Amino acid sequence: MKEFYNIAIIGGGPGGIASAVESVILGIQDVILFEKGDGHSTTIRKFYKDKKRVDKDYKGQKIELNGNIYFCDGTKESTLDLFDKIIKENCFEVHFNTEVESIKKKGDLFAIQTANNATIKAKFIVISIGKMGQPNKPSYPLPSSLKNVINFNANTTQDGEKILVVGGGNSAVEYACVLSQTNPITLNYRRTEFSRINETNQDNLNVCLQSQKITPKFGIDIQKIEDEKGKPKVYFTDDSSEIFDRIIYAIGGIAPIDFLKKCNLQLNEDGTPIVGDDHQSSVDGIYIAGDILFKNGGSIAAALNHGFHIIQSIKARL
Ligand SMILES: Cc1cc2nc3c(=O)[nH]c(=O)nc-3n(C[C@H](O)[C@H](O)[C@H](O)COP(=O)(O)OP(=O)(O)OC[C@H]3O[C@@H](n4cnc5c(N)ncnc54)[C@H](O)[C@@H]3O)c2cc1C
Repeated sequence: MKEFYNIAIIGGGPGGIASAVESVILGIQDVILFEKGDGHSTTIRKFYKDKKRVDKDYKGQKIELNGNIYFCDGTKESTLDLFDKIIKENCFEVHFNTEVESIKKKGDLFAIQTANNATIKAKFIVISIGKMGQPNKPSYPLPSSLKNVINFNANTTQDGEKILVVGGGNSAVEYACVLSQTNPITLNYRRTEFSRINETNQDNLNVCLQSQKITPKFGIDIQKIEDEKGKPKVYFTDDSSEIFDRIIYAIGGIAPIDFLKKCNLQLNEDGTPIVGDDHQSSVDGIYIAGDILFKNGGSIAAALNHGFHIIQSIKARL
């Protein structure tokens, strides 16, 4: 990866692919696309049945295609083939298995951090992460009676609660350090070294550990969790067990709405990002394409059109 790009595209579904392809067609250099799955179009690959019929005017939404991608009625397989072909024909830099964790504005540029700890800078961002992403869950069962106190973000924590944060990436460490100002925090990571976190988080973690604001449980895994009178009782692999008020898992796969909040984007009441006619979000330079703009689901054709219009706007600003 280079250090600097004109456009960084987050998400390799129809909205992201269209943004990348339209950039190449308009001659924009230095465009990079990040996709967290191991190939493009994870939603289509994972959630469509094999041989599913794919309608261009999905659910009766009649859409005239404005861009350069010729998408028509077909099947799951023919749609994936089309995207394979146009990605190959329009060379742009694409990184699979690369989840973007955060986007921060630094002066006139954005710093994009990935879960595998790479950082690049870009002038413009297109977010097209769809709505199907879910936080990763642990392999052992979680008692459904505890669903209100076993969370995958820190949105519902209350001051003073005894909290177990589970994970070894930037999100887990950020949750643990911030919450340790107001709560007794235990941080559990199955490894002993935090090799994926950035320097700032490493420094903050060291300070919290030294001041004993965070109790470490490193190099230890969780065996099981039981409901102990409405609270999670956690059994660790070192044969210890402890009761907490709440558990927060931060083991990858941020939910779309949490991702948007992390990027400091203003949202409507229904959780969709606020955008202008040109699809620019409340943060100058961040554009939004595809399903995350719709409360009740969009379509491939709509996402392709968003990519086309966004890139026209960005081209005019470059
Ligand atoms: C079962 C089903 C059937 C459908 N049938 C049709 C149909 O027949 N016709 C039609 O037009 N539409 C159909 N749709 C809707 C269509 O699939 C979506 O409208 C379209 O995929 C939206 O494209 P998108 O780019 O916005 O999001 P997505 O296709 O969801 O792509 C988002 C991509 O972003 C990636 N991603 C998410 N977070 C990150 C991150 N932090 N970092 C890096 N990558 C990330 C995801 O892995 C994913 O590949 C169907 C949807 C479903 C679920």
